[in-house]
Amino acid sequence: MKDVAIVGGGLAGGLLSVALAHAGFSCIVIDAAPPEKMKTAGFDGRTSAIAYACARMYRRLNLWDAIAPHAEPIKDILVTDGDLASPSRRGGVAGGFLHFDSRELGADEPLGWIIENRLLRNAIFEAIDAHPNIELIAPAACEKTTPGHSGASLELRDGRTIKARLVVAADGKRSRLAAAAGIRAFNWGYGQSGLVATVAHERPHNGVAQEYFLPSGPFAILPMTDNRSSLVWTEKTAAAEAYIASDTEVFLEAIKTRFGDYLGAVHLSGPRWCYPLGLSFSHKFYGPRLALVGDAARAIHPIAGQGYNLGLKDIAALVDVLSEARRVGLDIGDEGVLARYDQWRRFDSAALALGTDVLNRFFSNDFGPAKHLRRFGLGLVNRVQPLKIAFMKESGADLGRLPSLLQAQG
Ligand SMILES: Cc1cc2nc3c(=O)[nH]c(=O)nc-3n(C[C@H](O)[C@H](O)[C@H](O)COP(=O)(O)OP(=O)(O)OC[C@H]3O[C@@H](n4cnc5c(N)ncnc54)[C@H](O)[C@@H]3O)c2cc1C
Repeated sequence: MKDVAIVGGGLAGGLLSVALAHAGFSCIVIDAAPPEKMKTAGFDGRTSAIAYACARMYRRLNLWDAIAPHAEPIKDILVTDGDLASPSRRGGVAGGFLHFDSRELGADEPLGWIIENRLLRNAIFEAIDAHPNIELIAPAACEKTTPGHSGASLELRDGRTIKARLVVAADGKRSRLAAAAGIRAFNWGYGQSGLVATVAHERPHNGVAQEYFLPSGPFAILPMTDNRSSLVWTEKTAAAEAYIASDTEVFLEAIKTRFGDYLGAVHLSGPRWCYPLGLSFSHKFYGPRLALVGDAARAIHPIAGQGYNLGLKDIAALVDVLSEARRVGLDIGDEGVLARYDQWRRFDSAALALGTDVLNRFFSNDFGPAKHLRRFGLGLVNRVQPLKIAFMKESGADLGRLPSLLQAQG
């Protein structure tokens, strides 16, 4: 019997297996998709903004060397409340704006890193292949899990049965495993989709990430290596679908209107992608011999680039909780143990889910009084230094009780 069976080998489930194996647990990872497909450029066009404290976990697990050459440090973040006619799109310095500067944190770390999901995934798969404590079964779908007295059994669609002390649902948004275990979830669609594209540009971005709040939703320009930027552009779903179906010239023109000219000439350097956006939140992050991590626990709007970071915090917290249980001789599938994990992750998850939801509603409109209020709010945070530092630490995943894998070394 394995210690842990993880259903879902995505960015959360895959990294969890590496972290657990690093802590001495035996794991099995099951994913419905073929790994060869998951490693290709056509599988996921997104980049992730990885918070600086979360990047420490990639270092601790020895994955950083493979990632570092392709990771762009975020030195500054400029947040601007704009509209298509405002000069904000030429560099983010219009009326209400907020400037996060990594130097103000006084540490030798950037605010975060922008990394292509494909590269994260490939580094994770390499680590899985190299670790003797991890077994990968893919493609194989898990149909059902049955908790028992000393372990749980998992039934795969191909007829195989696997036994483990603990099952982790890392099967993504609207987790079927969690639903099958009777864990209810709140699910909400925003009627918005996230358009994602990579652009190459003439001038350097100098490690500055820009976020423009436009009436249809936020438009983020995230600095990548090699004079490229990743765009995450939120639109109402019908408009997003029309942009995806439009000619390249039409799409590029629409980008330029929003992007402005501060980075010189801009051209597309890859395909465009569209992701429907919604909020889901599980009432409990555990069940009998079951723990939920990543989007399976909760999935949030990408407005603050925090969805995967929450998953990374889940991983680090779960590793600490299970290691402590093992140290004192407890069963790692015990409900009391899993309840501790739930308590650790619930408040932070709820705060970010609510925060991003309110932010998205408050900023994705052209309502005059709201516009004045939000510009005032951005200006206020920009001037009140302790508040600004707290926001930078929160987005860097560096506030509150940090699990060992996220703590600064030394
Ligand atoms: C446009 C956009 C931009 C984003 N940008 C950021 C960002 O900058 N920073 C950030 O922190 N987050 C960001 N996010 C969020 C982030 O992408 C997600 O939180 C993250 O990818 C979730 O990973 P996961 O492993 O939990 O789930 P998934 O990636 O959904 O993986 C789930 C896996 O489970 C497998 N699976 C499902 N069911 C079964 C089954 N029954 N049996 C076996 N396998 C199964 C699937 O095949 C899949 O591989 C963004 C999201 C979007 C939409």
